[in-house]
Amino acid sequence: MTLETVISEAKDIVNKVVPDSVELTRIEFEGPVVVIYTRNIDVFADNQDIVRQLAQGLRRRVAIRPDPSLLASPEEAEDIIKGLIPEGADIQNIYFEPETGEVTIEALSPGLVIGKQGTILNEIKKRIGWVPKVVRAPPIPSKTVEEIRQYLRTVHDERQDFLHRTGRRISREPSPGEQYVRVTSLGGFRQVGRSAVLLTTRESKVLIDCGVDVSSENNGGPYLNAPEVMPLESLDAVVLTHAHLDHCGLIPILYKYGYEGPIYSTPPSRDLSSLLQIDYIKVAFGEGKKPPYESPQIRKAVKSTIPLKYGETTDIAPDVRLTFQNAGHILGSATTHFHIGDGLYNVAVTGDIKFERTWLFNPAVNKFPRVETLIMESTYGGYHDVQPSRQEAAKRFRAIASRVLGRGGKLLIPVFAVGRSQEVMLVLEEAMRRGEIPRAPVYLDGMIWEATAIHTAYPEYLNNQLRTQIFQTGENPFLSTVFERVDSSDKRANICDDPDPCVVLATSGMMNGGPIMEYFKAWADNPKHALIFVGFNAEGTLARKIQKERREITVNDKGKPLTLKLKMDVETIDGFSGHSDRLQLLNYVGSMEPRPERVLVCHGEEHKCLDLASTLYKKFGMETRAPMNLETVRLK
Ligand SMILES: [Zn+2]
Ligand SMILES: [Zn+2]
Repeated sequence: MTLETVISEAKDIVNKVVPDSVELTRIEFEGPVVVIYTRNIDVFADNQDIVRQLAQGLRRRVAIRPDPSLLASPEEAEDIIKGLIPEGADIQNIYFEPETGEVTIEALSPGLVIGKQGTILNEIKKRIGWVPKVVRAPPIPSKTVEEIRQYLRTVHDERQDFLHRTGRRISREPSPGEQYVRVTSLGGFRQVGRSAVLLTTRESKVLIDCGVDVSSENNGGPYLNAPEVMPLESLDAVVLTHAHLDHCGLIPILYKYGYEGPIYSTPPSRDLSSLLQIDYIKVAFGEGKKPPYESPQIRKAVKSTIPLKYGETTDIAPDVRLTFQNAGHILGSATTHFHIGDGLYNVAVTGDIKFERTWLFNPAVNKFPRVETLIMESTYGGYHDVQPSRQEAAKRFRAIASRVLGRGGKLLIPVFAVGRSQEVMLVLEEAMRRGEIPRAPVYLDGMIWEATAIHTAYPEYLNNQLRTQIFQTGENPFLSTVFERVDSSDKRANICDDPDPCVVLATSGMMNGGPIMEYFKAWADNPKHALIFVGFNAEGTLARKIQKERREITVNDKGKPLTLKLKMDVETIDGFSGHSDRLQLLNYVGSMEPRPERVLVCHGEEHKCLDLASTLYKKFGMETRAPMNLETVRLK
């Protein structure tokens, strides 16, 4: 539907349901959303039914905004807000979002901002024109969230242009003719790392994920030079499942080679990816390698991201609609569902999934309106990949921690900054608080603190229990005094030399660089200490080599090789993983509604992909395949 048709249909619908006096001042596409500006915002606010009817009639997401001429300047509005809200509300932050005409008021006591029966809020609305949104201030301020917010404000005009352009492109008339649906595996098939899938229809091209293989020496990326992908300008959209580097690591490179379009991701995935991408190029520089992109491309990616919450359905191309659902894997991780054509076909891509409730998240969603083909991960899809439960894993963790801390040793835990570290933090905090293990400082090194702060900035993405705990003063486990942030190399050196027992959580998770290496070099030859793996280690990484019982390890020490005799204990605790084990993967498919006709298996070592594919075929009689990279499968 072109902009002209949308404008005339929107006017018709509004005329039918609201009084003539309602004035629509402008109708625009902003990315996938039809934005209607009006001088009578109250009429719409009081009658959500009109908005629903508009969305149904236009078959689009609709946003109603106050006409910009009605808005007080942010400075003036801020003074008015502060004047009206009682001091006890403890305002932490006020920020304006010109894109939506909303002002967010972050306070420690949101009830006092709202006032009795909303009196204060209504008064604010009347005086400033902006639509006020009141939220509880996040308990740990995040630099990343703050910087991204500020950056988006400075590029507001540019971003508006970008959103209008994107909206028009989505609304182009599809070309007539036979329709088809294909997927091409560009990376992360029969392997873990460099995930990328291309979804092609007669009309559009959508790239799902664009990851890096961190175990590769030369920035191993997906096959972006495949003829189906080129030129990158021809892509309609990039969709990100979650913020791990094997899914988001090379997205900025797309902007270096000609892509100008949008990235769809959940809001936490946008923030976490930029944090991890910045760190990724920093680590590369630190090791004397040339990173594949630089910070301007990361900024461009942030500017081009269209955030989407779970369950919000959105057009991303003339014949493709996208819906994210919780994947239970890390903060903001999503399973992506694509509805193609008018009821033509449906594809879901799991991304990485955890089909079990964890300390942090609800289990992955496996109910969809329709799915014919499922593309699913198989990290632990092999025959022997049955993992202990979360409870058993925690028990084993406490036993090892007691033993090592009790003998005056140190626990060194390599973790991804996002996901596993927060789970391990919660287990450690609880065990120390209850006296189940000796109390010792827990040092967090390498972005873990910042990643944790981002978790508390998006409480709606955590499971209910943790969300409540975080906001009950004094009970936020992440704010416990056992945690200490390491933010300088001096502090790191002191911890390395300190003789007292402690726990260190540091990145990178698979020990291919990052601050973990400093602690490892300092403690590797001391049998009193222990190295504990809690996550998945890809083939080719140092962590995997250590797990395979190599006892002489050569590492890079300021550009020179250094050989270490490994005498510290090495333990692997299964059950902490953010990935479903084999049984959970089978349950995910078995209880899926509706059951898909076809499953394409990816994101696993070769034999695991093949094993899971054949088990699914035998168990459920569905068509299954484990494509290699660079295969194209026609789905319809
Ligand atoms: Zn992941
Ligand atoms: Zn992954």
